[in-house]
Amino acid sequence: MSNWLDKIMPSKIRSESKQRTGVPEGLWKKCPKCGAFLYKPELEKNLDVCPKCNHHLRVHARRRLDVFLDPEDRHEIAADLEPWDRLKFKDSKRYKDRLSHAQKTTGEKDALVAMKAPHSGFPW
Ligand SMILES: [Zn+2]
Repeated sequence: MSNWLDKIMPSKIRSESKQRTGVPEGLWKKCPKCGAFLYKPELEKNLDVCPKCNHHLRVHARRRLDVFLDPEDRHEIAADLEPWDRLKFKDSKRYKDRLSHAQKTTGEKDALVAMKAPHSGFPW
């Protein structure tokens, strides 16, 4: 049985995008806890919390910082720092290649994103 979204979506996109999550990529996300189909713009307004079961969905560091801190009052700390392969380590892959792959897939230089927000209202 198909729903209205299946009927309007081209079959190539439908078959490719459903392989991983069972939900068409784009505007919808499936709650990993209750399985509800969530409209992404509404989910973002709800700060990435499922309105059906109150599950807090996983978010990236920058999204979390966007939610916590005003954009005009935050400054990224040490944005230019990145790891380097001091030991020239290698296991099944070279560490240098692992770093390069991780940087390309995440768009981040390092695993940690740190910001200061002097007027955020937090006590630290
Ligand atoms: Zn849910």
